[in-house]
Amino acid sequence: MLNGLMMDYPLTLDHIVEHANRMSPNKKVKTMLPDGSMHDYTYADFYKRVKKLSNVLESLGVEVGDRVGTFAWNNYQHLEFYFGIPGAGAVCHTLNLRLPHDQLTYIINHAKDKVIFVDGTLLPLIEPIADQLESVQHFVVFNVPEGKEVNLPNVSQYEDLMAEASEDYTWRCTDENMAMGLCYTSGTTGMPKGALYSHRSMFLHTFGVLMNAALGVIEADVVLPVVPQFHAMAWGLPYACTFIGATIVMPGPHLKPEPLAKMIGEERVTIAAGVPTIWNGLYHELKNNPRDISCITQLVVGGSAMPRGLIEAYEKELGVNVVHAWGMTELSPLGSTSKLQSHHQDLGESEKLDIKAKQGYFIPGVDARIVDLVGEELPWDGETMGELQVRGPWIAGSYYKVEKRPEHFTDDGWFRTGDVVTIDESGFMTITDRTKDLVKSGGEWISSVDLENALMSHPKIREAAVIAVPNEQWSERPLAVVVPVDGEVPEDDLNDYLLEQFPKFWLPDEYVVIPEIPKTSVGKLDKKVLRAMHSEGNLS
Ligand code: ADP
Repeated sequence: MLNGLMMDYPLTLDHIVEHANRMSPNKKVKTMLPDGSMHDYTYADFYKRVKKLSNVLESLGVEVGDRVGTFAWNNYQHLEFYFGIPGAGAVCHTLNLRLPHDQLTYIINHAKDKVIFVDGTLLPLIEPIADQLESVQHFVVFNVPEGKEVNLPNVSQYEDLMAEASEDYTWRCTDENMAMGLCYTSGTTGMPKGALYSHRSMFLHTFGVLMNAALGVIEADVVLPVVPQFHAMAWGLPYACTFIGATIVMPGPHLKPEPLAKMIGEERVTIAAGVPTIWNGLYHELKNNPRDISCITQLVVGGSAMPRGLIEAYEKELGVNVVHAWGMTELSPLGSTSKLQSHHQDLGESEKLDIKAKQGYFIPGVDARIVDLVGEELPWDGETMGELQVRGPWIAGSYYKVEKRPEHFTDDGWFRTGDVVTIDESGFMTITDRTKDLVKSGGEWISSVDLENALMSHPKIREAAVIAVPNEQWSERPLAVVVPVDGEVPEDDLNDYLLEQFPKFWLPDEYVVIPEIPKTSVGKLDKKVLRAMHSEGNLS
């Protein structure tokens, strides 16, 4: 073997923040503060504070490899944690602030977080469990509302610590294989499991996000990550924006449609990223209170399927290009995006929309295959459904402190996503369902996702979720839970509408109207809750 003679340059995140300071010192990070006013500072200011923060961590006794929790909205402080914690050689463990107390306690104790940074607006969510957090030696709070008493042990104010810290710091992240981030899955299908990212994996993922085939963020972009920083590292946007010098707009706690519309319009946002629930809400807000948001060149949507009808509405009514993306916490998280390619250019409008509604093309760096129940590889013909398996440099090879199991990882080195998909001849993937959500009716599979998307495209339906309910004859049958736009559910209409797209046996056996579909901590339809409501007799 002859080795190459190139430099051994560790792919560590300090290079990203150094690059931002050198190349884009005057570009801005903006945050909507809890009171609705805007805070902004430059990447040069940010850089100094990141170094201070790394010093603060050392003064608190944080050592290389220690886990440091963050319990915060998307804001400039949280962006500092994204770099200052890994810069000090520690692991930035983003905590999902919507988790129930028992899961939050479990995750913090499982990760053994030594320090936790807490957004003062979120104190009531963490104070009640503080005495159960065995490993935590310090809490550091910021944004504490005036007059609010802090009931946490060993607590310091972030700004007091920062005021005393030096701006000189020698980065401790010297090896690209060091862990830099820890993120637990949101538990949509089971107890949360931790994906432990390395500097190398996050650095390469950042290049992935920056590719045009993926999100293609450029310096001139103004990027609004609505997706929380605790949801799979805000899909990698904070690192990508910093590296390329894009303007970042952080929404703080303001995730309601009205302030989002305002931020997009006033800051002239070009890329906004969030789950379909957020964009569904924004669309209805804009119907009632029109505002021009055509400054957006990419409305990135992922986390669950974006209904085709909503993509169409954004494009036709609001002049906004939608980029549908698929990812998972275990993939850092980006896996695919659905951008039209050269061979799609001659398609008609409706066919182009069909492509955009797919989960898309695997970005370079992500290898994919589909397999059947016994692990045999299946063809990419756009019809054959199989379990999606992936591998690549930013994909988890095992879970943090969980023994490697065959239901998660194959013997030949692939990660089992648990998604059931088809892939067409040109490599475009469509998610049919999650293995656990498919309706298995009389030996046939019914896709709950396809039914939901079709129902949500009906003008009288605002939201819909389909779950499998036990059935003696067929084993399982679909039940549709719907939220109508104006109270009325025309069942016959809906059935006729579905029959235009699906065989008769796909029709839901029942429609149940509820005022709102329960959502998971990251805004997905919570089918675990719906199934529980059904089995307790509370859905009819
Ligand atoms: P959790 O596993 O707890 O839901 P993740 O955010 O990691 O947390 O979820 C990853 C899963 O979300 C994927 O396996 C897939 O089922 C679903 N998902 C992500 N993006 C999309 C999308 N664009 N369309 C449909 N499903 C998606």
